[in-house]
Formats: sequence, structure tokens, C-alpha cells
Amino acid sequence: MAPGRAFIVVRRSLDARRGAPIGYRYRVALESSPVAHVHPGLHPGARGRSVLVVGAGPAGLFAAYRLAHAGARVTLVEQGKPVQPRRHDLASLTQRGELSPSSNYCFGEGGAGTFSDGKLYTRVKDRAAVAFVLGTLVRMGGPPEIAFEARAHVGSNRLPKILTALREHLVAEGVSYRFEAALEDLVVERGVVRGGLVRTGDGLEEMRADAVLLATGHSARPVYEMLHKRAVALEPKPLAVGVRAEHPQPLIDELQYGKHGRPRHPRLPAALYELTCDLGEKRGAYSFCMCPGGWIVPCATEPGGLVTNGMSLARRDSPHANAALVVSVDARDYGEGPLAALAFQRKLERAAFAAGGGGFVAAATRVDDFLAGRGSSEVARSSYLPGVVAGDVAAALPGRVVEGLRIAILRWDKVLRGFGSREGQLVGVETRTSAPVRVVRDRHTLASPSHPGLYPVGEGAGFAGGIVSAAIDGLRASESLLQTPR
Ligand SMILES: Cc1cc2nc3c(=O)[nH]c(=O)nc-3n(C[C@H](O)[C@H](O)[C@H](O)COP(=O)(O)OP(=O)(O)OC[C@H]3O[C@@H](n4cnc5c(N)ncnc54)[C@H](O)[C@@H]3O)c2cc1C
Repeated sequence: MAPGRAFIVVRRSLDARRGAPIGYRYRVALESSPVAHVHPGLHPGARGRSVLVVGAGPAGLFAAYRLAHAGARVTLVEQGKPVQPRRHDLASLTQRGELSPSSNYCFGEGGAGTFSDGKLYTRVKDRAAVAFVLGTLVRMGGPPEIAFEARAHVGSNRLPKILTALREHLVAEGVSYRFEAALEDLVVERGVVRGGLVRTGDGLEEMRADAVLLATGHSARPVYEMLHKRAVALEPKPLAVGVRAEHPQPLIDELQYGKHGRPRHPRLPAALYELTCDLGEKRGAYSFCMCPGGWIVPCATEPGGLVTNGMSLARRDSPHANAALVVSVDARDYGEGPLAALAFQRKLERAAFAAGGGGFVAAATRVDDFLAGRGSSEVARSSYLPGVVAGDVAAALPGRVVEGLRIAILRWDKVLRGFGSREGQLVGVETRTSAPVRVVRDRHTLASPSHPGLYPVGEGAGFAGGIVSAAIDGLRASESLLQTPR
């Protein structure tokens, strides 16, 4: 490099492959970034246009961002609460087992991503869009390194501040936020969607708009049921279900870093794993949403149904590593019909709630007991705050899923010796790995072909999975909406 020339880090990734020295790989650029940043501005398609955005998760927020900057009139309705009061409802759930169906780990400002692991990497190939989303989060107060870390991670303690700054920015751009406002029905005129019926503290309100951008996430079951009743084009979507595995983080550190993980070198992050296993007959098992140094959290949205997921703080310093271990399921497991997969999820969640004995306490099984086909009579301490009880996690899952998990864990134990040992335990169930329904949309306009004026976006529509990809889908759908004549 020429002396005196500045460079910037474009990407940094940890290289901990076995047999080679552990270190970081850097990709740098001289003086300016090669990644084009999109600066969306005014758009002629926004002139005089009003849009009702439903859902304040990443998809809805980034859609509102684009539409407001383009010059459209945007109302953003969210059934949950702003991020700070939402915390109280999480505490009621984890400490007293009391669930608020509209304000919980899935619902509220920031959506399912707010109290999450905060991983910000994605398989989306559009690098400019990824850079725009990450750059926006940095401008809203996120740590600058998320823009270049290969495995960018923000941590759920930082997200509330970022979301508050984003809200202040959007309000200044003219977005009207309505919290504790749940869409119950669509306003349809001559076959075109022209707004929604929204339940607020004052009753049912008709909110009219030129278009509705539906960004309600993968857990908005009443929305799916309403769309089905309205004959909006829907199709079932394959998904994956299973359990959440929890191991001591020092075990995972040692398995991944060898001598540098025993104890972990202070410059190394808590180690993670990503595992896959082909089970044949078009089925696979895989680990999902691994949270090093994290907590297992209760992600239920319905009373009497238990769902697990994982989160972590920026420091990733809990003594536990957790990840979903899931097996793909399809119509062979849940039958036919647009809402069949949703009914299947619900059935497993109810069985898991019963297996834990109520109050969102979860059944847990030591991995070696699970492999031996029995429940456990004692389990280790868990990060899952409503608490775990020794039992048989397999009892809440279909036989094919249990069998698939056993085969996969035995194979993974050959790669990560100890993964299948008694040190690990399984907590269940994990059912919300992705949307159970796809809300069909036109390939070009991204609008519903059955209901023009309706733009299904994000994870709930079945077109994204993860914080960044949902945000990008929100941007894409808004761009398409702006280009479609009214
Ligand atoms: C615990 C947990 C950890 C996760 N960790 C990660 C991670 O580390 N990295 C990652 O990339 N992804 C993670 N995810 C997944 C990620 O959060 C989602 O993919 C992403 O949030 C989807 O964005 P979305 O905007 O499509 O929907 P959501 O984030 O689900 O937002 C939908 C919003 O719509 C609202 N809504 C629903 N129905 C209505 C209605 N009728 N009226 C008004 N509002 C309504 C909901 O209240 C919600 O706020 C995690 C998810 C969970 C639950």
C-alpha cells in the first residue's frame, strides 16, 4: 500500500479453521468503500399517496423509511408497545409466566428482532441493499463495526436505543406512529385494498389509504386467518420444527477453538456452530439461530402454547450456548390447505406447554437421554427464565422429527465430540423458524394478485427470514409500490 494512503475495512471475518493458526481476515479498500450506498430520496410515485404500513418490525420500519423519504403519507400501526414499555411485558412473562398476546418477544416496536440475538448477517446477495440497512442502523446509533463484520452482531441491549432513534427520525420525516393498534380487517373497494379496520384503545377505527403494506411477521396468526377468510391468495409453506439445544459455552469454545478455547483466549468471541444433516427423502436437519453466550427465551404469542427461541446481549457473556436444532417438515406432516402448517405449529406448542406443566415452564431432556429414547429425571441449570423441568421433550414432537434429530445429533457428535453428551440438554419446542404460510404476490409488482393494493412483505409474507432480509424486503416492496400507478 502506498505510504500515507488511508484505507477502510470493508469486511472482517474470524478464521478458526482447524489445523491453521486462528486469526482475522480483513478486506480493505483504499480511501473509499467499493460498496454503493443507496440514498433514497423523493419519488414522483409518492406524490399525494397515502400508505398504511402494518407492523413495526424490520420490514415495516424500513418500508416506512423508504416511503416517508419518497414523500408519501405514512401511517404505521403496531399492535404492540414502544420498546421501553414492552420490556415490562417481557418481565411479566419471564418472571411470572403471564403472557400479553399483543406485547411479547415477537410483538412490539422492532418486531421479533428487538429482543433477539441481533445477528445481522444475511444470505441476500444485494450488497448495496445490505450496506444501506446496516448503514442506517449505524446512523441510528448502532456500533460502526456492524457495517464490516462478516458475522455482524448488535445484541439486544443496544437495539432499543437504535429503534428509539429510528422512530424519532421517522416521526420527523412525517410518519404517524400508532401503537397498541391492531389491524383486524381490510377495507376493500371494488376488489382493491384501500385501508384497514384497526382496533385501538378507542374501538374499531377505519384507516383509509391508497395501499396497505402488510408486515406483520411470522407469528401474526389472526392476520393469516383474516386473510384466509377474505380469500386473499395464500399457500402453505414448508418449515422446520424441533428443539432448542443448550450446552455450556466453555464446551463449545473448546470444541471449536481447541487449545485456544480452554479457557477461551480473551481476544476470541464466544464460539458458535452451524450444523446440517441430510436425512434423505427430501428432509434435512440443521442448527438455526445459534446464540453463543445467550439465553433461551419464551416466544409464545398465544396463551397455552410454548415456543422457544434465543437471544443474546452485545457481550455474549452468558455461560450458555444455545441453538435451535430442527427438522424440515412439509405437507407429509401437516396435510393440505393454506393454514395446515399453522395448525400443526399450534398443536406442537400446546403439547409443549402441557409437557412443562404450565406457566411457560419448559420440559428439558439431557441429550444422552434423548438419544437413548427416554426422558430425563434431572436436568442442568438453564438460561430459560420461566424455568425448565426434567421431562421428555420428544413427547411434544412428531416421531419423524424426533427420529431425524436423533440421527442428526449422532452425526454432529462425530464432528463436535461431546455435542451429543450429557452436558447438553434440549428444551422445547421450537416451531417458529419461519412463516407457516406464504402470502402470494406478483413477481413484478410484489402486490397480492388476488387483492391489488395489498403488499405482503417481510418474514410473515414468506419472502424473508431474519432482520436484514426482512428490512430489505420492506425496501423492495416500497420501491415497487411507488412505481405502480395508483
Ligand atoms: C427471539 C428471536 C431471536 C431472533 N434472532 C435473530 C437474529 O439474531 N438475527 C436475525 O436476523 N433474525 C433473528 N430473528 C428473526 C427476526 O427477528 C425476524 O426474521 C424479523 O424480525 C422479521 O421481520 P418482519 O418485520 O418481517 O416481522 P416481525 O419482526 O415479526 O414484525 C412484525 C410486527 O407486526 C406486528 N403485528 C402483527 N400483527 C399485527 C396486527 N394485526 N396489527 C398491527 N401490528 C401487527 C407485530 O406486533 C410485530 O411487531 C429472531 C427472532 C426471534 C423471535
